[in-house]
Amino acid sequence: MPETTFTILIYVWMAFGVLLFPLLLKIPAPYGRHSRSGWGITISNHLGWLIMELPALAVFAYFFLAGPVEKNVVTWLFFSVWVLHYANRTLIFPFRIKAREKRIPASIAGMGFTFNIVNGFFNGYYFGFLAPHYPQNWLVDLRFLLGLLLFLTGLGMNWWADSILIGLRNSGQKHYSIPKGGLFRRVSCPNYLGEIVEWGGFALMVWSLPALSFFIWTVVNLVPRALDHHRWYKEKFDDYPPQRRALVPFLI
Ligand code: NDP
Repeated sequence: MPETTFTILIYVWMAFGVLLFPLLLKIPAPYGRHSRSGWGITISNHLGWLIMELPALAVFAYFFLAGPVEKNVVTWLFFSVWVLHYANRTLIFPFRIKAREKRIPASIAGMGFTFNIVNGFFNGYYFGFLAPHYPQNWLVDLRFLLGLLLFLTGLGMNWWADSILIGLRNSGQKHYSIPKGGLFRRVSCPNYLGEIVEWGGFALMVWSLPALSFFIWTVVNLVPRALDHHRWYKEKFDDYPPQRRALVPFLI
């Protein structure tokens, strides 16, 4: 695909995400605690997550590896951090979540699947077919160093917070409870905050349009969901900590 076509497609994809944002602020994505009828047939939560996330791993890896662009230590590092995140999200996370009987609308899994195909394609194709040569000294560039630091910090926050949330049902509970400790003292959704920091870091360390577009889409997906979760917690629990914000300590 010519680079100009690729670039135009990414701008269209980013514009779509920006236009979708106000809609997502109004309509909570109907899975997890916001599940409701009217979204068609449902499938098992575990299967849903596996299906949704697999393209982010497989499509990205395919185009990264299939393309003619010569790989070096820098691009392999980009590959490694992406795969590190998505190996967990695709192959580990779906099997850790509790409440086996929970279901997700097939339509939502389908949207997640499509979203991950597009993002996996854009990022994988960029590295495989279009990326400029990243010289070895990119490893000491401030963008790379700060981006990697943000990525690893976000990954740590995301994994830690997901583990705390999953652990809330360790004794077989099916209900929701108030998560406590660490960043949960400040925000309702540190897992989403971590994910946003992670992909912001990735965009910075790679310094590419596809990575920026993925960061924007992560914000578009997770800011509304964090606000929905926060509202839900406050309605559900009378004793919900009043100082806690939705996503960003002291701010949002
Ligand atoms: P949630 O925080 O809604 O849920 C994560 C898991 O923890 C679910 O199994 C959920 O159960 C359980 N859980 C959450 N809160 C509680 C609680 N208070 N009490 C008991 N159990 C709880 O996250 P999502 O499912 O929306 O997302 C999962 C991961 O995927 C996150 O790390 C997120 O960052 C990532 N993600 C990334 C996106 C992107 O655009 N990059 C988009 C969407 C998600 P239940 O399912 O029953 O609610």
